[in-house]
Amino acid sequence: MRAVVLRDVGQPTAVEDLALRRIGDQEVRVRLQASGVCHTDLSVRDGSMPALLPCTLGHEGAGIVTEVGGAVTAVSTGDHVVLTWNVPCRRCPHCLRGETQLCPHGLKHAFGGPYAESPTGPVWPEMGAGTLAEETLLPAAAVVPVDQSLPLDHAALLGCGVTTGVGAVLRTAAVRPGESVLVIGCGGVGLAAIQGARLAGAARIIAADRNAAQLPAATASGATDTVDVGDADLVGAVRDLTGGAGVDHGIEVVGKPATIRAAFDATRRGGAVTLVGAAGFTESVTLPALMLMADGKKIQGSVYGASDPARDIPVLAELALRGRLDIEALVTRRIGIDDVEAAFTDMVAGRGARSVVCFGPPS
Ligand SMILES: [Zn+2]
Ligand SMILES: [Zn+2]
Repeated sequence: MRAVVLRDVGQPTAVEDLALRRIGDQEVRVRLQASGVCHTDLSVRDGSMPALLPCTLGHEGAGIVTEVGGAVTAVSTGDHVVLTWNVPCRRCPHCLRGETQLCPHGLKHAFGGPYAESPTGPVWPEMGAGTLAEETLLPAAAVVPVDQSLPLDHAALLGCGVTTGVGAVLRTAAVRPGESVLVIGCGGVGLAAIQGARLAGAARIIAADRNAAQLPAATASGATDTVDVGDADLVGAVRDLTGGAGVDHGIEVVGKPATIRAAFDATRRGGAVTLVGAAGFTESVTLPALMLMADGKKIQGSVYGASDPARDIPVLAELALRGRLDIEALVTRRIGIDDVEAAFTDMVAGRGARSVVCFGPPS
């Protein structure tokens, strides 16, 4: 099977031919139909996210189960499934508190043994999923069956970006009808957050991006106002739009100290700042110490949209099937497996939302 393989951090990937190892008792084999290209894939490629190398990139995919291990009962051959990278243990203190996204064992499978062989040796799957490939092998607990009428190139995005963005707004921020929401960063996750705010019944949804070309997609996803950050002072623009007060919720989906600070400053006294973007390990944010207390704002991180894939992916799939969640609005382009490097170039330039790799029929 063909796979997008990273051999050394900082180097371009190449499409290679791999052979999957034998399936384990608790595993499933999936023929991928589609895989999103997520910013985290780029972070693995440039070395800012850890991975065992060489690895097949990709962790946001959907496909059809082609084989199940002897002990697998929850899914069957022929099932349409969304792949998830988080496999909570369901026994640790975090899991027992309902914080499965923080389970310290959730990525254990990613750092176990290799899943495939190349002509020059073993290969690991990025985040235990390796979705930028025609096939993969993963724990049965890492796949979530979905209705067969949901297009798989939409279902793929439920594996990471949609769950992260919608969950940040509905679960972490818990936006209520009538509230105002600012979303900074209108890539795939940011657009999903905007759609989450629309689902929550937010009255005002302000979308901001450094690239004005992203803003029409934000409007299509439900933004009521847009701010071209390349052109305007973001905090000033948000204050103007909200009568000087600031928004109830500042959602940051970039992961840069400057935009985290802007989210804090653009949020009203007593409001909540929700951080979704992943910053670099060595970056720090400076906030005014007195205002941290005196303004009574809440600052909270959101990992994987505080979602439990087994519980929340079927809900998001149902919302997509009923037309309440517009996943097509997040898809910038459909590409082939040989075009992943070009998708990274677009990502670095801040162009577009999600590139989705579509795999051809089985050969
Ligand atoms: Zn756990
Ligand atoms: Zn991702």
